[in-house]
Amino acid sequence: MPEEQPEFTHVFELAKSGRAKCRGCGKNIAKDVLRFGESYENPYGDGAATLWFHPLCAAHKRPEPYLVALDYDDCPLDDATKTQHRQIAEFGIAHRRLPRLDGASLAPTARARCRSCKEMIPKESWRLSLVFFAEARFEPSGYIHAKCASEYFETADILDRACHFSELSDEEKKSLSEALQETQSS
Ligand SMILES: [Zn+2]
Ligand SMILES: [Zn+2]
Repeated sequence: MPEEQPEFTHVFELAKSGRAKCRGCGKNIAKDVLRFGESYENPYGDGAATLWFHPLCAAHKRPEPYLVALDYDDCPLDDATKTQHRQIAEFGIAHRRLPRLDGASLAPTARARCRSCKEMIPKESWRLSLVFFAEARFEPSGYIHAKCASEYFETADILDRACHFSELSDEEKKSLSEALQETQSS
């Protein structure tokens, strides 16, 4: 990184330890694995703080800064990976709520209200969890029905994205995919 770039706020580097957690998926980033850092001025002083991500998680959840970093001359990703990540990030910018998607799960209770249609989400039906990024952190911000995905995100093409942030079996993926398709037909 050139020294005459004091406002630089993003970096790719190999993880120096395996202790930092990815802000996108919540898992540890293994030592020596490429990670993406988004730095910001600490509002309480004491210089900059950095949020670390797996590059693919940043493409999903922080598309604007990530796209800027992809264009750096020294971005270490190969061209095929850059193209893939660019598509994911651009899709997230075109559908501005999409970076909020934090995964899919079966509702353990019937106590959550859908943020899109305001109806309750039935127990054991698919729900999509949301996070909201503000002031350099992600805050949990509720759930929507799987069938409300296209209304809320303005696209129902979210299966891969939901699966990236949830560990689902093939059977669960199929069931989620069917729940998402209810949208398009209704
Ligand atoms: Zn991650
Ligand atoms: Zn709903």
